[in-house]
Amino acid sequence: MFFLIFGAGKHEKEVGFGEYRTCLRCNNHTQWIKIEKCNRVSLFFVPVLSWGKVQTQRCGICGHSALTP
Ligand SMILES: [Zn+2]
Repeated sequence: MFFLIFGAGKHEKEVGFGEYRTCLRCNNHTQWIKIEKCNRVSLFFVPVLSWGKVQTQRCGICGHSALTP
């Protein structure tokens, strides 16, 4: 029996440490985490197509994210 495993959706991964910023949600001044987000299509769990890559930063305490200035 053969199953075609196909997936599509938003993908995000941590790419390193960001700047020290004050969070608008929790008001803490901490080092944020750089995040790369994109839309991705995968086949058999292997990414075959990705588009719309955007880099954002996320608060290390509450998880609030904001676009990289
Ligand atoms: Zn926060």
